[in-house]
Amino acid sequence: MKFYLDFGHGGKDSGAVGFNGTFESNVVLKIGLILKSMLEDNNHTVITTRCDNTYYSLSYRTNKANKYNCDYFISLHMNSFSNRNARGCEVWVYDKSSRLYNTAKSICSNLSKALNTPNRGVKISKSFAVLRKSNMPAMLVEIDFISNSLVEDVCSNYDYCYTVAENICNTLLNLD
Ligand SMILES: [Zn+2]
Repeated sequence: MKFYLDFGHGGKDSGAVGFNGTFESNVVLKIGLILKSMLEDNNHTVITTRCDNTYYSLSYRTNKANKYNCDYFISLHMNSFSNRNARGCEVWVYDKSSRLYNTAKSICSNLSKALNTPNRGVKISKSFAVLRKSNMPAMLVEIDFISNSLVEDVCSNYDYCYTVAENICNTLLNLD
């Protein structure tokens, strides 16, 4: 299988910033690089948007995935909300008939258990460019809320990043 891993944001675009200054772009880069090596250890090919803190446009991301003819597009993000109590993981897909719909459901329930965070479920959106412009089944994972200080405190830890990557990897390995 050839996976496209898109680590959200980067460079001048930090994404969401936690109360104590943690950048979403850095957290998803850390998690994503662990996930990349786990998938490669299982003999899958992985193409990524970036492997460092560089900015790339949204069209660059989907163009690259389409050019490499990847089988699945997975975009990693941390969520953010003005109410700092908000918590939970959610996964976005383009529509209900997405070939990743059931995988998205599994990622929600597995991450929710592993991170002890609410399962906000699978959501549908036509407005995310990475879901709309990718030629292959795509999903956007919002791991948890970096705006919540409990999450921000742990999400820079290697153990947290490893747990997230391991759960997503194990779910992806069930794809055919
Ligand atoms: Zn984001």
